[in-house]
Amino acid sequence: MWVANLDRLPTRVRLASWGLQIPTTCCLCSSEPETRDHLMLTCQFSREVWKLALGNLNPPVQLFRDWNELLSWIRMSSKLSPSILRKLATQATIFHLWKQRNNAYHNSCVVLPLVISKMIYRDVKNTILARRNRKQFRTLLSLWIT
Ligand SMILES: [Zn+2]
Repeated sequence: MWVANLDRLPTRVRLASWGLQIPTTCCLCSSEPETRDHLMLTCQFSREVWKLALGNLNPPVQLFRDWNELLSWIRMSSKLSPSILRKLATQATIFHLWKQRNNAYHNSCVVLPLVISKMIYRDVKNTILARRNRKQFRTLLSLWIT
């Protein structure tokens, strides 16, 4: 997540900018240049994953158009969608999107957005369960599993 936040992921556009002779199109949709913001936010595949993964957390209707919109959404907080839960879900989603991108790039293997969203759901649930005795995490499980 930190590397993604700094826009230092080795996306195809960045790899090509370093002189590698590779196509710059997105590994997930093959229709747009693979930049961080496209791969993680505006790609049709990624948007489907976000929509499924953030279902209960009150995501923006149009989802995220750029990284700043994602960061703004993470920082907002409501009773049913606290910032800490938004951070956990975002971190898990970014991790799984990058993992899927590498899976598509290196193994030509595509996992459906629904399957990825289930892995995100499970990862966030496990993260909360591992910290359930901390005051900050006590109410999160019921918010996440509803
Ligand atoms: Zn794409």
